[in-house]
Amino acid sequence: RGGGGRALARAEGPAMRVLLVEDDRMIGQAVLDALRADHWAADWVRDAPMADTALASQSYDAVVLDLGLPRGSGLDVLRRLRQRASRVPVLLATARDAVGDRIAGLDAGADDYLVKPFDTGELLARLRALLRRSAGHADPVIRHKGVALHPATREATLDGQPVTLSGREWAVLEPMLLRPGVVFSRAQLEEKLYGWKEDISSNAVEVYIHGLRRKLGSDFIQTVRGLGYVVPR
Ligand code: CA
Repeated sequence: RGGGGRALARAEGPAMRVLLVEDDRMIGQAVLDALRADHWAADWVRDAPMADTALASQSYDAVVLDLGLPRGSGLDVLRRLRQRASRVPVLLATARDAVGDRIAGLDAGADDYLVKPFDTGELLARLRALLRRSAGHADPVIRHKGVALHPATREATLDGQPVTLSGREWAVLEPMLLRPGVVFSRAQLEEKLYGWKEDISSNAVEVYIHGLRRKLGSDFIQTVRGLGYVVPR
C-alpha cells in the first residue's frame, strides 16, 4: 500500500509507537515490515519477560500481543499491564481454535483481537481504529471546507462529489488537512513522499500541490513565500 494512509489520530500527534510481542519469527517480521511500511515506529520483543520490561519502561501507543509466548503467557503480560493501570490499547493475535484465549484476553483488558493467520492490512486498520477511539475520535473522516478524506478507503470528496487523488497527492494533502493553518515546508512534505521508495525529483512537491489546486480549487492550498504551504483555516 502507499505511504499516504496515515491514521487520523496518528497524524495529529507525534509518531505513533507500537510494541509487537510475537515469538514466531515469520509472523513477527511480516508484522514489523507492515508497521514500518505504514510509518509506525515499532519495537519487537519475543517473550513474556521482555514484553513486561518493554511495557514497564517505555511508552507505547498500542500493543500487538501474541498470547502463546516463551517464558510466560501473553495473558499474564496483559494482566500485569492493566494492574499497572496502563490504558494503552491492546490488540490480541490468537490462534484460530483459541476462542477461550480470546474471551480470557478480552476480559483481561484487551481491546480487540485478530485470528492468525491475519492480513496485515486488517491489522493496520484495526490499530487505526483503536488509536482513533483512544484519542476520542469516532469519525474516521478528515474534513475541512468541503473536502473530506476517508483514510481507510482512500476516497476523497469535494462538496460531496468524488475527487480522484493520486497516492502522492494524498500523501501531501493529508497532513495539511489535519492541521489547517499550519505551514508545512517543502522538506516536511517531501518526507511524506519518502514511503514510496522512489527518488523524489526536486520539484515533486510543487507538482503535487499544482495537481491538488487543480482538483480542489486554486485557493485551497496557499503558498507562504519562503516558508512553504498551508491549508488556510
Ligand atoms: Ca506464539
